[in-house]
Amino acid sequence: MKFIFGPVASRRFGTSLGIDLSPGKKQCNFDCLYCELAPSATVDAYNEAYPPDEIIFELASALKEHPNTEVITLTANGEPTLYPYLDELIEKIDAIKEKKQTLILTNSATLSDPKTYRSLLHLDQVKLSLDAVSPEIFKKIDRPHEGIDLGKLVQSVVSFSKEYQGRLFIEVLFVKALNDTPEEIQAINDVLEQIECERIDLGTIDRPPAYPIEGLSYEELFKISHRFNPALPIHIASRKDVTSQPSCYSDEEIINTLDKRPLTPEDLALLFDADSLKRLYQLVETHEISLKRISNLDFYVPTKNLKRKRHKNS
Ligand code: SF4
Repeated sequence: MKFIFGPVASRRFGTSLGIDLSPGKKQCNFDCLYCELAPSATVDAYNEAYPPDEIIFELASALKEHPNTEVITLTANGEPTLYPYLDELIEKIDAIKEKKQTLILTNSATLSDPKTYRSLLHLDQVKLSLDAVSPEIFKKIDRPHEGIDLGKLVQSVVSFSKEYQGRLFIEVLFVKALNDTPEEIQAINDVLEQIECERIDLGTIDRPPAYPIEGLSYEELFKISHRFNPALPIHIASRKDVTSQPSCYSDEEIINTLDKRPLTPEDLALLFDADSLKRLYQLVETHEISLKRISNLDFYVPTKNLKRKRHKNS
């Protein structure tokens, strides 16, 4: 198949069939330092785009072959919202998707274009990236196409979050010595406080990047997660090749840690040593800690917080 890949079992989004809207080459309005694709000149429009019917033909056959697909993900070798027939494609997917959800993974840059903004309102799920809110850091990390205005981008993400009726996810990807300073984290936090979303994924580089840069360790991401307002629905996106030094936590430390930031079983396996994990399971047995499903993921939380509202959509 030319456009369809997967199904991919995504922990964050479910079983997904991907659609690559730019299978021939990278076409993107960013040239991010961390991109897993090779560096390339930015564009503000696709100069190679395939008709929606070709994509739908493949998708229909893939859906027949993989009836357990939960999510149809629009993505690209580059930025999927630059695909010129996005509206028509979404309409045609809606006609055949039955109960499956549509999702797009976008760098957010075209959201200030009213046409893209309206197209994305029709999707069931949207994931918007927001790596920086200071112009100089944004330029260094994401290396945007000329004319992309960060102020408008941020404003459109905030407005979209308030109008959109589907499931909205935000992703912040951290790069060492660029957007991990206390000042930038505080500035990102201030913007995130204005955004209404289901989950905020904090991540770092987990594939060989386009340029020689460094990601953060899991512990560094964990520390960063504590700088954000605890009311925000933050999730540390775990990585395949993560390395960490598990530590010892007392009962009280376990409860305090989960009080500040609910964590998934995978997070805890990285952070807690074997004795601390045993203590955690005992706290679950005595009902001081509970497992709560939030936005596709299981999180351990203090039982007393089960009714705490972390966000209006959660
Ligand atoms: S937005 Fe995505 S595809 Fe484009 S350069 Fe950045 S990481 Fe690569």
